[in-house]
Amino acid sequence: MREEANSEQPRTTAKLARPAPGAAPGSARQPSPDALNETPSAPDRGNVGQDVQADIWVKCPGCKEIAFRKEVERNLNVCLKCGYHLRLTVEQRLAITVDRGSWRELFADLAVGNPLSFVDSRPYSERLETARRASGRNDAIVTGIAKIDRRVTALAVMDFNFMGGSMGIVVGEKLARLIDHARARRLPVVVFSSSGGARMQEGALSLMQMAKVSAALGRLRDARIPYLSVLCDPTTGGVAASFASLGDLNIAEPGAIIGFAGRRVIEQTTNQQLPDGFQTAEFLLRHGMLDAIVPRHRMRATLSQLLGILAPRRAHKSVD
Ligand SMILES: [Zn+2]
Repeated sequence: MREEANSEQPRTTAKLARPAPGAAPGSARQPSPDALNETPSAPDRGNVGQDVQADIWVKCPGCKEIAFRKEVERNLNVCLKCGYHLRLTVEQRLAITVDRGSWRELFADLAVGNPLSFVDSRPYSERLETARRASGRNDAIVTGIAKIDRRVTALAVMDFNFMGGSMGIVVGEKLARLIDHARARRLPVVVFSSSGGARMQEGALSLMQMAKVSAALGRLRDARIPYLSVLCDPTTGGVAASFASLGDLNIAEPGAIIGFAGRRVIEQTTNQQLPDGFQTAEFLLRHGMLDAIVPRHRMRATLSQLLGILAPRRAHKSVD
């Protein structure tokens, strides 16, 4: 149960399209297809210099090359030299996945307080507030209905920038409601996961979400409605151990870190040496734990194709 991603992976989080200042919590910003082409925003006041430098350039964690951030963004945040997939924000993910103007957010107002009165170096409620202000949303996932290549789909995207994409009551509840909503309307479900696992500040309440979402997926399966799971970098802990691995098809992005516990914990528990790269998408595909690895440039077309095969009669409903 970890809040942060595998600390052994020296990956940086690409946070490129910033939430609009003053965005109301839970408000769904309609993604624009140009979201990846916007000029990096310079700081509004003062503080030029280093901040601007950092905004203009990006260092690829794969090949260590320095590139123009704008150029990399135009390439869907994939390194032009080595193909390394940098992380996307929720807005960027929506912009490159759904048909323009088709996104309708659902359950945006669900929020949690501090149910266990959890305090570490700071109270949990304070940490939540900070994350909410930075992201403009209530918790670490957005859920809604959208069209993917004209196919109406129930869609969820996890936000790794929000407390490590950790799964607490709100993430679980929004997913369970979305899945039940999809079942009632007979819509296929697509979930983009990106998470450090269960949210430790909500203790056992967050672990219960694994069972709740899995049960909702069981009902969806009984109704013979397809669910596609897309595992993005990183998908770990209780998310990897529940809904992210329960897709009718489990698809990953290249190089994504996917696993339950970190290397050190497993090695200490099992007294075994683990092979290099054992928690990458490529390793898991070779060992039959994934159905496919799909490069970002092919993801939307692949989802459209799969939805066409698995849910052919649901193609042209309205999103409302
Ligand atoms: Zn690179």
